[in-house]
Amino acid sequence: MGLIFTPDLMLHTYGELTPDYLLSKGIRAILTDLDNTLAPYEQPEPDQKIRDWIRSMEENGIRVAIVSNNDPERVERFNRTLGLPAFPKAGKPKKKAMKAACRALGVEPRDCCALGDQLLTDSWAGHRMHMLTVIVPPIRDKLTWFFRFKRRLERPFMRKYKKMHPEWNP
Ligand SMILES: [Mg+2]
Repeated sequence: MGLIFTPDLMLHTYGELTPDYLLSKGIRAILTDLDNTLAPYEQPEPDQKIRDWIRSMEENGIRVAIVSNNDPERVERFNRTLGLPAFPKAGKPKKKAMKAACRALGVEPRDCCALGDQLLTDSWAGHRMHMLTVIVPPIRDKLTWFFRFKRRLERPFMRKYKKMHPEWNP
């Protein structure tokens, strides 16, 4: 049961996800979350590190799309200079936007990696789509009651991951 929330792989930052690793898994596209995965909420534009990472993927034939539950204004501003296929208000863990992203990129879900920071939205959506599911710890969480509550709900699945991957050192 917990495996639908537990990611296939945890990394410390999106930057640790490399073209070599993805190609070794037969992955040709990344459907990435935005907030707290690529940038904190308060960072409106991508930085050079994000640009370099996306370019390294594209140079290796790996397409990147943004699938975010945040609103179109946020996603469009962030994506303005990136020009990636982008799907705001995605409603993850629902599958609809993930499917739309696959269609836009011309890839099958099994050839995709779902990247995000939340187990109950990003990881679940990835597993529902039968994608390789990669989670990074949130860059900078909002300290609201609701966010703390969500992180509490994730804990047992984090423990499960740690049990399955004793080498993981957050
Ligand atoms: Mg997020």
